[in-house]
Amino acid sequence: MYILDLLFPKSCQICKKEGQYLCNQCIKLFKKNLPECYKCRKLSNLYITHRLCKDDTNLNSVFVGWEYNDLTSLILKKYKYSGVKDMAQTLSEIFVQRIAETEYPKYLEGTLLTIVPISRRRQKERGFNQLSTIGKAVSEKFGYAFSDSILIRKKDREHQSVKNRLERSYINYSDFYIKKDLDIRDYKSITVLDDVITTGSTLESICLCFQKRFGNEIQVNALCIFRGKPYYLSC
Ligand SMILES: [Zn+2]
Ligand SMILES: [Zn+2]
Repeated sequence: MYILDLLFPKSCQICKKEGQYLCNQCIKLFKKNLPECYKCRKLSNLYITHRLCKDDTNLNSVFVGWEYNDLTSLILKKYKYSGVKDMAQTLSEIFVQRIAETEYPKYLEGTLLTIVPISRRRQKERGFNQLSTIGKAVSEKFGYAFSDSILIRKKDREHQSVKNRLERSYINYSDFYIKKDLDIRDYKSITVLDDVITTGSTLESICLCFQKRFGNEIQVNALCIFRGKPYYLSC
């Protein structure tokens, strides 16, 4: 046991029982999302976007682990704002297990996994990016290539000197920078990891950047831990 665990004993973020950040009982309360189409949110094998729904999105498939609700938001808040590295590890473990329960890992074989970048300021404050922790765990478990430095989030007002420095190794797209020397010829697809889907606009925007860079044939998937209930099911 680490000394820190003795000083600050871990406790379940939901029921407060000591031992882990998420106890085995509370994880059972997480509601698993069924394989659905990202766009219309009706059932779809392997989370693949329906062909007809492809008119409104470029995302090829989007995996979702659990429903985002009052319960899971407690976990997400702790993970997002506490800066506790262990919470990201806890989420990694359960998310890897959740993916492994499905056929989706096989579908993603040969993919290059990356993450939705957080703002540079937040990363600096925290010293690490939680999504990197989760991305690494997922790629190690399923044997995917992984890089967390493919994308950089753009700031509204970028200092010219920072801009110059970035543009030496990154190409400037609408909302993101993409690494200049990124070569995707060895990969079947690109998969972007995110923690929670709200509007989906970030993923759409990343997808568009990749398509501008590599052409429309590039297959872009997403792995998301949480997503809210479809609105038409909320009654
Ligand atoms: Zn609990
Ligand atoms: Zn659909």
